[in-house]
Amino acid sequence: MKVVKFGGSSVASAEQISKVIHVVTADAARRIVVVSAPGKRHGDDTKVTDLLITLAHTVLEARNYEVALQSVLSRYAEIQQDLDLPKSIVAIVEADLRGRIENRGPNDLQFMDTMKASGEDNNAKVIAEAFRKQGHAAKYTNPGEVGMLLSDEFGNAEVLPESLIKLAALKEESEIIIFPGFFGHTLSGEVATFPRGGSDITGAILAAAVKAEVYENFTDVDSVYAMDPRIVPNAPAIELMTYREMRELAYAGFGVFHDEAIIPAVHAEIPICIKNTNRPEAPGTLIVPERKYEQAEVTGISSAEGFCAIYIDKYMMNREVGFGRRLLQILEEEGISYEHTPSGIDNMSIILQSAELEAEKEAGVVARISAELAPDHINIEHGLSLLMVVGEGMNYAVGMAAKATQALGAAGVNIEMINQGASEISMMFAVKDIDREKAVQALGSAFFG
Ligand code: ASP
Repeated sequence: MKVVKFGGSSVASAEQISKVIHVVTADAARRIVVVSAPGKRHGDDTKVTDLLITLAHTVLEARNYEVALQSVLSRYAEIQQDLDLPKSIVAIVEADLRGRIENRGPNDLQFMDTMKASGEDNNAKVIAEAFRKQGHAAKYTNPGEVGMLLSDEFGNAEVLPESLIKLAALKEESEIIIFPGFFGHTLSGEVATFPRGGSDITGAILAAAVKAEVYENFTDVDSVYAMDPRIVPNAPAIELMTYREMRELAYAGFGVFHDEAIIPAVHAEIPICIKNTNRPEAPGTLIVPERKYEQAEVTGISSAEGFCAIYIDKYMMNREVGFGRRLLQILEEEGISYEHTPSGIDNMSIILQSAELEAEKEAGVVARISAELAPDHINIEHGLSLLMVVGEGMNYAVGMAAKATQALGAAGVNIEMINQGASEISMMFAVKDIDREKAVQALGSAFFG
């Protein structure tokens, strides 16, 4: 049994939904189909989820919401017409949306979730109708009714552990299940949503619950590439990688999906396949718990902007008991989370996401470190990018760092920090933002030719 998930662009129009039906029915093992709300049909389109957020705000501000409501309904009406579905399906969507607005409770966050969730919920009803119209036995399934139970952190809900046991019963269904992504019910029966992009989470939970042979995540790219194709246009496709390679690459900018979204599938060791709705014959990228690898083989190189570093020097730092702990404690007390702490004999640097250290916080932290730790120097550098060179084959391979540093040196890129060895399967470099693309290209030619 396979669990398949289609993202917003794959279910944005009648044409895309027809492709979905084709993909699903081409393989009898594709039994559970998770769908997003209609996404963008073209570059400057608006996702239905965003239209729904606007509608919900209009309602909350007690303004006339008819225009906002019609903009949502027109998306479903377009799909209904183009797929030649009965008009009654749009009436069902309209009644559903008006019901959500009219029966609104006192909790605005909960109301917002109810409205956002309607995007996937109604799309699942329309898509189930489209399957049936083409003669396939398919059924819309309401997540709350079959046990997708979530915490009541509206907009940021987490799945409750008992859900996995309850949802396992979906294995027994004979029809194709059309399951709306992104939301579930709290224990008291209210609708709650995962963070944005959360249909990936729904798919991962279902794959884990029914112990699927694979979780296929259909999107609009053929595969994951070894480097960002915007930086290296001919970057090779990655056909196979492990969960931990994916995690390390996703950390620095591999944006195919949020790595946290697939935790349930990872825990259950379900292979995950990224595939293209528009080219389902392309092999895609398969992500597995373990794989065979060649020594010294690199799988991918990722990079992300948005980091900064606090550099601290103090003569004889290595002899000072508790220096590191006190430094990190200051960060903890200031509510700052850090990423890495490369250190030397008399120096320690802390790499953080720039968002953790806004101007006001920065002044306070510098003042505290200066007063409490009496360093010789402290300075903060903004505008750093992190680069990750990742591959199972880097485990115990000799000469990988030399090859990387040589390539960066030859390209005139100054390395601000190297972090190697903490993870067996990656090397990390910090460079200035302006050098990021050049650095990825240099490492790319060194490791991929
Ligand atoms: N429709 C939701 C969003 O736009 C969830 C999803 O597509 O995964 O965030």
